[in-house]
Amino acid sequence: MGRTSVSARVVENRPIAPGIYRMGIEAPWADGLVMPGQFCMLQAACPGSSDPLLKRPLSVHDAEDGVAWFLYRVVGKGTGLLARLVKGDMVAAVGPLGQPFPSLAGRRVVFVAGGMGVAPLPLLARRRRVMKVLLGARREEELAVLDVLDLPGIEVEIATEDGSVGHKGLVTDLLPPFLEGGVEAVFTCGPMPMMREVSRMCGARGTACWASLEAAMACGSGLCMGCAVRKAGGGYLHVCSDGPVVDAAVIAWG
Ligand SMILES: Cc1cc2nc3c(=O)[nH]c(=O)nc-3n(C[C@H](O)[C@H](O)[C@H](O)COP(=O)(O)OP(=O)(O)OC[C@H]3O[C@@H](n4cnc5c(N)ncnc54)[C@H](O)[C@@H]3O)c2cc1C
Repeated sequence: MGRTSVSARVVENRPIAPGIYRMGIEAPWADGLVMPGQFCMLQAACPGSSDPLLKRPLSVHDAEDGVAWFLYRVVGKGTGLLARLVKGDMVAAVGPLGQPFPSLAGRRVVFVAGGMGVAPLPLLARRRRVMKVLLGARREEELAVLDVLDLPGIEVEIATEDGSVGHKGLVTDLLPPFLEGGVEAVFTCGPMPMMREVSRMCGARGTACWASLEAAMACGSGLCMGCAVRKAGGGYLHVCSDGPVVDAAVIAWG
């Protein structure tokens, strides 16, 4: 089965930290067909209203027993309407979409995450595609999402900018020992400056790096060209169809 466009029932939608929600929807593809790093375009079904017109992209956070889960921060109108949904409400969902993280089963892969970049982690962990997580936050309160991350057998190392938990400094400070220790690949998801630095560090060591990009997107399927990102060698790629997960070396990070 490829991607589907469905009206899906919400099975749960609850706040897990201020402004951050975890939502599950019934999804026919949730039992094995979705790959870690893929995303869905979602929109709260509001009878009589088409505002906002466009669905919003969210990474598939986890998928099991016919339910696809999403972890999202309320930013504006689209996510604000999603946050109001309760069990039994309907959501318009198109997915799963985009290119996933590569399958490097059995290889030593480190995941560098910042902020909502943790969203795809449980599905990656379930499929055993990552062995170690380095997580960055500004302060302890931003780590509340850790309480709902189901990451069996995966060690998490934390860096906070104010030193309230773990290493005091940036999450990228934690990466050099792994690069020097011969980690085979690095996956990264989070703020662009963090991913740019992770990509630079990996490039300098010749370590493979895949980044999950974010861009405003309207269609989610490569038709509108709204999510174009410049490539290092010239030209553009589209985050929705060439990504969101891309080889970090092909991006012109600026
Ligand atoms: C692949 C991918 C995966 C993501 N996964 C997650 C995740 O797991 N968790 C999470 O919290 N966030 C995730 N995001 C970010 C999330 O999609 C945004 O925070 C969300 O779209 C905000 O929508 P909003 O309506 O609440 O905010 P708004 O600020 O109201 O709008 C959001 C965006 O929609 C875009 N938009 C509005 N109108 C148009 C238009 N006419 N044409 C094109 N774009 C328009 C704007 O660029 C705006 O930035 C992901 C983004 C991408 C690209």
